[in-house]
Amino acid sequence: MPIVSSATQVIERRRLMALFAAERKTYAGRNPRSRAASRTADNLFGRVPMTWMAKNAGGFPLYLDRASGARVTDLDGHELLDFCLGDTGAMAGHSPAATVVAVTRRFAELGGATTMMPTEDAAVAATELARRFGVPQWSFALTATDANRWALRLARAVTDRPRILVNSYCYHGSVDESLIIADGAGGRPRPGNVGAPCDVSITIRVADYNDVDALERQLAHGDVAAVLMEPVLTNIGIVLPEPGYLDAVRHLTRRAGVLLINDETHTISAGPGGCTRAWGLEPDIVTVGKAIGGGIPAAALGLSGETAAQVSARTDLDLIDTGGVGGTLAGNALSVAAMRATLTAVLTDEAFDGMIALGSRYTTGVRRVIEKHDLPWSVTQLGARAEYRFARPAPRNGTDSHRAGDDILDDFLHLFLVNRGVLLTPFHNMALMSPATSAADVDVHVELLEAAVRALVGEG
Ligand code: PMP
Repeated sequence: MPIVSSATQVIERRRLMALFAAERKTYAGRNPRSRAASRTADNLFGRVPMTWMAKNAGGFPLYLDRASGARVTDLDGHELLDFCLGDTGAMAGHSPAATVVAVTRRFAELGGATTMMPTEDAAVAATELARRFGVPQWSFALTATDANRWALRLARAVTDRPRILVNSYCYHGSVDESLIIADGAGGRPRPGNVGAPCDVSITIRVADYNDVDALERQLAHGDVAAVLMEPVLTNIGIVLPEPGYLDAVRHLTRRAGVLLINDETHTISAGPGGCTRAWGLEPDIVTVGKAIGGGIPAAALGLSGETAAQVSARTDLDLIDTGGVGGTLAGNALSVAAMRATLTAVLTDEAFDGMIALGSRYTTGVRRVIEKHDLPWSVTQLGARAEYRFARPAPRNGTDSHRAGDDILDDFLHLFLVNRGVLLTPFHNMALMSPATSAADVDVHVELLEAAVRALVGEG
């Protein structure tokens, strides 16, 4: 059975399976120390520190030895070009010098990571986030998941409405209100969700991305507190907005008195202030995590002046004790030191110019491979981030993009690349550029992709 076909090109599944088996064998042979480490991890649930790390194409994870800039070295001593970058947590590059200095100073020299006392770094980081994203009032969290949870609580509090609307196949962390997919006129639980607290239809509404009519229909129920969205879907491939879509979202949410939350955790790849700044969006709340701490856990939530005033006016809300839901470690001295340094000295406006140029180089190279072999694939870029998907044209919503998924083909490509020294994000085919990534790194990936495709179509 062909897995992908076009006028001139067919990839046979049988050939794919044989190539995949050969790559798995190579992987097992190349990585004896990682394999042994995994085999002896008897007290790790699923033999991994967190169950999602079981997502590895080779049957056991590669163990990290060290990392620097845009490179990681595994336990067996292979140096890999890292386009995964911790799925954005290391977008600044691994252990960027300015962040290392700030973190070392805070933790080793001054001392004190967790004290329940603010440090001056926090206000500097907040001012920089305000400059970037255009919303003035910031709080901190340790993960984007937590920033989103907090945003949803505030939205429900100020609107006094129960539901949250999300896009089908979105991902905003393990936020219960996001685990739904569109199904006809309504929604149903996203397959695979574990331990849902209640029926999703009690707390969530859903609309496909780029579907203005569905959004309007769902908001018409009058029970939605906030729309939580990525301005561009990035967790089911990259799905870009069609012309007018984001304007329509803002218009409809304003008309319905619904808060708009832009989750810029991944879409910060579009520029220093994410899509919000790049495209002049006007969210009520911005959430962002991962990249901003330069590898140290840090996340943030920004409120527009109006939303901050609405929250402050509700003197009945206990934002300090029971309702102060940010977490004891949120805003700790180490995280904010890392954030200040990363934002002011590493992920600078100038750094983004270089990273985005590399994103374009990567995308152009991948597109050339796709066109040369007439593959029915597409590649989509969002600034410093790009991803190839097994559909052409590129999917226009999460549902279509989900249908374009092919786990075996993903896994084969990941293994082919990792066996030759290139690391992609284990989930789909995302690649991210850091300030330490070079044009030569990008070209290595493109050449290897070309070699993988030649093998797939029987030219290798
Ligand atoms: N928001 C988005 C858009 C994400 O992609 C993710 C994680 N991939 C999160 C939130 C959650 O981030 P974390 O796992 O660091 O809490």
